[in-house]
Amino acid sequence: MGLSAGVQRHRFAIGVVITGLSLVPLAMTKAAEQRNWLGTPAPTQQTKPALSAACPAPANPDPLLGPRTKMPGRWIGRTKAAANLSIVVMAGHADSQGTGSSGTPGYAVDKRRLPPMQAGIRDELFWNRQVQAAVVRLGTSRGLTIRSYTPPSITILDDDNPGTNWSRAKAWSARGEYILEIHFDAYRPHGFGSGLIPAINRPLNSLDESLGQAFGRFPRNFRGGLGGPRRGIGILEMAMLEPPLEDKLRDQATRSQTVNCLAERVVDALVKGVS
Ligand SMILES: [Zn+2]
Repeated sequence: MGLSAGVQRHRFAIGVVITGLSLVPLAMTKAAEQRNWLGTPAPTQQTKPALSAACPAPANPDPLLGPRTKMPGRWIGRTKAAANLSIVVMAGHADSQGTGSSGTPGYAVDKRRLPPMQAGIRDELFWNRQVQAAVVRLGTSRGLTIRSYTPPSITILDDDNPGTNWSRAKAWSARGEYILEIHFDAYRPHGFGSGLIPAINRPLNSLDESLGQAFGRFPRNFRGGLGGPRRGIGILEMAMLEPPLEDKLRDQATRSQTVNCLAERVVDALVKGVS
């Protein structure tokens, strides 16, 4: 989301390393415990960690994302999502550069006067694209039916042009696909924080619920119902585009790791939502 989000066009191991010991029944004997210490594989040890050890574990306040939305919603996603549900990942503002809905420039560009990450586009789109790509790559590796969509131009003035995120989302949502659009919120005090602004055009499901639990929930009718959610888009505000997260993204030494940690949060929530 950007500073001009009021415009109708507005248009996540750590620590969860599951060892055999953590799953050992309380009644396990001392001898059995010792065998485990000695590395005897137990059947339950096959469980793969959901998040890699290099990423900070989810917490509140969250060390990776910062605060959750200061305006919380109360919706619950109750409809069960099919395990093979088709998921389409879009980058927010991918077709609205140079319009009133270009996305946030971020704290670094706006306040520190640093150059944008890429000339001609807002930093939010740059990071939305990075996370989009990582989510699809990681999601595919974890068995999700997931793909990305990229509009043919970064500026499409007609919302109803068939190439816009909105037009594709409307058509794909109508045939039952799950549309997720990656965003970063504006920095404080303009931004709200992380969370999902869910779709309005359909009953909320277990994927929405899982993302809501992982990132937080915006009110379902946030800003009176945004154009994206009306067309079936779930808008995922990853975090506010401000330090310390923005610094970790901008620093070449920590960039790819940070993008991957953000994507892991998303993919972990998606996997939980369809299983
Ligand atoms: Zn945005």
